Amino acid sequence: MSKKSSLSEIRGLIIDMDGVLWRGNEALPGAVDLIPALRQKSIPFMLVTNNASASPTNVQNKLHTIWVDIEEEEVLGSAEGTTVWLGEQIEPGTAVFAIGESALHTALARAGFDMRARAEGVRAVVVGIDRQVNWRKLTEASLAIRDGALFVGTNPDPSFPTERGLAPGNGAILAALQATTGVEPVIIGKPESHLFEQALARLGTPPKATLMLGDRLETDILGGHRAGLLTGLLLTGVTRREDVANTPIKPTWIFDDLPSFLEELRKSA
Ligand SMILES: [Mg+2]
Repeated sequence: MSKKSSLSEIRGLIIDMDGVLWRGNEALPGAVDLIPALRQKSIPFMLVTNNASASPTNVQNKLHTIWVDIEEEEVLGSAEGTTVWLGEQIEPGTAVFAIGESALHTALARAGFDMRARAEGVRAVVVGIDRQVNWRKLTEASLAIRDGALFVGTNPDPSFPTERGLAPGNGAILAALQATTGVEPVIIGKPESHLFEQALARLGTPPKATLMLGDRLETDILGGHRAGLLTGLLLTGVTRREDVANTPIKPTWIFDDLPSFLEELRKSA
C-alpha cells in the first residue's frame, strides 16, 4: 500500500482481467477469492477488458475453469462497449464494415447493424484486434473512412501479449488505417471514457466511491483518474514498482498482488 487511505469508502469495483485475475491462461494468486469476497461484502463489480476478442461468454467460461461463477452481465468488453456506443450514434440496420474477430462481428450483428464485406455504402468502420487482418480488409476500411464513414477503434493497445512476447495489438491496426486516411479514430476502450461510463452506469455507483483495479498505468490507472475513480495498481501484470516512480500517473493505492488487496479490504470493514 502506498497511502494510508482506507478502502472502506468503496461501493463498487471495475476490475481489469489480464494481469489481475490471470496471466495468459494461468490464474494469478487470489483470483479465486476476489469475486466471493466482493459478493460476501455486497460490493458490485464489473469485469472490464479492452480485448475485443473476448465475449462475456468467453470470460464466464474462463472463470468457470478456476471455479469462479459470474453472470455475463458482470462482464463488459470493448466489443460490446463499442457496439453500445455505436448504437447511440447510428440506427440499427445501418451498413457497417468491421475488422475484428468473432466476438466483435457477433456483437455488432446482434445489435442489428448491416455487416458488409466491402466499403461501398458503409456509414461506420469498427476496428478491433484481428489476428487474420490483411491488405484487403485494410483497403476496404480505408476506402470507407476516406469516403466519410465514422472511424471507431475498440481499444488503442499498441501490443498484444503472447507466450513468445509482444505481438501487434489493435493500436497497430488503427495506426495503419490512420496513416492511409489521415483520420484519427474515436476510441471506446481504456483510457478513454466510454467504457468507464458504461461500466459505472451498470454498477450504479458514484465515481468517487468506485475503485478501478488494474495492472496498466497508461490505460487502467490513467483512464480511472480521468473518469474520477479511485485507482488500485496491482504489480502482478505489466507494471513494476519502479515504473511508478518514473511517471506522473499515480494510483491511489499500489498492491503487490490480489491477496494483499483482499487483506486490506478485509481490514477496512
Ligand atoms: Mg491488464
